[in-house]
Amino acid sequence: MNIVRCGKCGITLNEASNIQPDKRLACPSCGSMCRLFEVNITENVEIGEKLGVKAKRANAKKPFMEQISGVDTHEQSSWYFKTQASPDLKLW
Ligand SMILES: [Zn+2]
Repeated sequence: MNIVRCGKCGITLNEASNIQPDKRLACPSCGSMCRLFEVNITENVEIGEKLGVKAKRANAKKPFMEQISGVDTHEQSSWYFKTQASPDLKLW
């Protein structure tokens, strides 16, 4: 729901938010034609992202670098926990 307020004094006006600017009536309190539109959006967004990196030398069996970072979602509790590779891993 959009709330229309006076852009100068801030009182709530009983005016449609999609009204043309030249059709507006002056604010009954201060006479201003400025408007402030308050838009309330209620939305829940959940984003989980995980990035895994593995680097191996051509002749090596084990990766010399392995890193997982991002957010894991626990399947049952839907708790979020962050995973991060240990900082002592050497790239080369
Ligand atoms: Zn006003």
